[in-house]
Amino acid sequence: MTLQEAKEKIIKVVQEEDRLDMVNTFEGNVSMRVGDTYLITPSQVDKQLMTPEMIVMTDGEGNILNPENGMKPSSELKMHLQAYRVRPDIHAVIHNHSAYATAFAVAGKPIAPKGFAEAMEIFEQIPVVPYGTPGTQEIADGFAATLPDYNAVLLENHGVLCIGPTIDLAFTEARAVEKIAKTMIMAQILGGEKPIPDEMQPPLTAIAQNIKKMIVQGGLMINEQEKAESDQ
Ligand SMILES: [Zn+2]
Repeated sequence: MTLQEAKEKIIKVVQEEDRLDMVNTFEGNVSMRVGDTYLITPSQVDKQLMTPEMIVMTDGEGNILNPENGMKPSSELKMHLQAYRVRPDIHAVIHNHSAYATAFAVAGKPIAPKGFAEAMEIFEQIPVVPYGTPGTQEIADGFAATLPDYNAVLLENHGVLCIGPTIDLAFTEARAVEKIAKTMIMAQILGGEKPIPDEMQPPLTAIAQNIKKMIVQGGLMINEQEKAESDQ
């Protein structure tokens, strides 16, 4: 993927997140890694007015490589760079404050379905990582121990962080996390989940095994072929 293609991908995802009401105008940020270059959304730009030329490019230390566009990188650049350090296998990071998943983060509760079959197949659980002040290294320190095992985490009292071998997969995760969180909250309103009995667990495993070419990495299914392609 070229840098220009990556910039266009980022803009497409950001604007789709905005359209789906997963971010408000100025919150949330998206990044990609292409080789040794990190591309991230600029700070304080309306998502609908954002263009590929506004994407900020940095090296792994956060030094800006394209100052001529006059943009400041997202205030969460440190968090994104730390995610790539912890997980060198990934190429995309999406952070947002989507309402239902963020409700779990604000309550300090993991999304751990016990009665929602398909959610349980995709995510073992979506854990909460310790609070860090937005825009600081604390957030990155908070997830460093957890991110090796999960591709989606809740940032305590803050929001959602999804990572992926491709930006498409990271965005699929972000949408899945929000949808599952919404269903879990609705179930709570109806009196809580009805857990699936232990003796019913084997069929779930069998269903999961039938999903061809999928592997489970950190509780999230990743298509092997896409992963191989993204590593090239
Ligand atoms: Zn945030």
